[in-house]
Amino acid sequence: MSIFNWFRKKKEQPKGIITRYRGNVIARMLWGESIDDYMYENIDDRKDICPICHNTLGHIPNQSVVIHNRNWDLSTTYDGYWIISEKFYDFCKEGNYKNLRIIPLSNSKGLYYFEPMDIFGLDYELYGTKYINKRDCCGSYDEIIKPPVIKAKDFNIESNDFIMKSGTLFGPHEKKIFTIIIGNETAKKMKAYGIKNIYFKKIYDPNGLKIINIEVNRKIWD
Ligand SMILES: [Zn+2]
Repeated sequence: MSIFNWFRKKKEQPKGIITRYRGNVIARMLWGESIDDYMYENIDDRKDICPICHNTLGHIPNQSVVIHNRNWDLSTTYDGYWIISEKFYDFCKEGNYKNLRIIPLSNSKGLYYFEPMDIFGLDYELYGTKYINKRDCCGSYDEIIKPPVIKAKDFNIESNDFIMKSGTLFGPHEKKIFTIIIGNETAKKMKAYGIKNIYFKKIYDPNGLKIINIEVNRKIWD
């Protein structure tokens, strides 16, 4: 084998796998913008993290936070809290969406902490969500990577107009965040209502889902 061939062969070795899905899109994962703000300046003020390992266990917003960037209808802080605008709040109210935890931020008028309370079942195993370093102190993980884009087989939903969340928090340490999952109809309504800078990712029905793995000659982020 010439040096050239050897070099090329080595270069052609796949370093990662990109997975593509083809199937029935049953819901959407909803994302917004990230903002240059923290909900808590000081991690010691947080009551929603484990006092020993500092991993996020839930979300208790700091109601007196000052959010500087007020441009977005839906955004996330560095430390993993969802924030919505007055417009987003009105959309939820007018649409009569149930079980939403919406808390006004008194020093950031017109902005609210946002958390849907109903859980959309996702297939973590089939999707290959990674759990890194389980802690004995509280049972949390130091990092959970990749929110699934596949609905759980045993989770049934009749409506296509809802706002829910993932049952798992994703990301590292004290920056963990749940994902928001909405109905296909809800996604259309949000756009039509004029809610801006929002992004959708497809959530697939596991029935009839085709999973296509493509080997690629470069490193994949995860
Ligand atoms: Zn802990």
